[in-house]
Amino acid sequence: MNLIFLGAPGAGKGTQAEVVSEALNIPQISTGNILREAAKNGTEYGLKAKAAMDAGALVSDDIVIGILKERIAEDDCQNGFILDGFPRTVPQAEALDAMNIKIDKVIEIAVPDETIKQRVSGRRVCEGCGASYHIEYKPSKVEGTCDKCGGNTVIRKDDQPETVLERLAVYHEKTAPLKDYYGKQGKLVTVEGQEEVADTSKLTLAAVKA
Ligand code: AMP
Repeated sequence: MNLIFLGAPGAGKGTQAEVVSEALNIPQISTGNILREAAKNGTEYGLKAKAAMDAGALVSDDIVIGILKERIAEDDCQNGFILDGFPRTVPQAEALDAMNIKIDKVIEIAVPDETIKQRVSGRRVCEGCGASYHIEYKPSKVEGTCDKCGGNTVIRKDDQPETVLERLAVYHEKTAPLKDYYGKQGKLVTVEGQEEVADTSKLTLAAVKA
């Protein structure tokens, strides 16, 4: 099954994508994680992307589409995949259609902006492997340490309050139109992001399996 997870920054789409990835045993492809890794490694596109990411802006369609093409050509995507954070613009969605990749469902995790602003301040990400946590909703077993690789968990630079406002504005302007795009294709399913992560996960899994 090929799925897309859509949602404003901090809505919890990554967390839900991870749950579904484990349940269906298909890879979760986070373009944000790939870009952060590239920025850390100082690759040419990584450095270009870093400036945009730190400012809360989107990385250019060319770069992100190139990354995605390479990633979904890998063997582990043969039986399906979950796109987490891609597409984020209509041209990216059109590029996906042009690649003849059949998308089965688009799951939107819907959370009001006000809730997001409160939630994002608790987010943490592992410097080592990119795993994500939340101090309240999804804490690591040992505070500040990643459960998966033992790396340090830190606040993402783009989770600073002013950057979050910018990312939300970008989401509404550039990404939210995808709801219409996939709605017209009959693929959009909206899941209300509940207060408890586990409740959202139940709704998400039900939406995927329906
Ligand atoms: P995320 O981890 O999904 O919140 O992504 C973090 C940042 O990476 C975003 O704010 C963008 O700057 C960049 N990014 C990730 N995915 C995309 C995409 N599909 N198109 C453009 N920029 C992206």
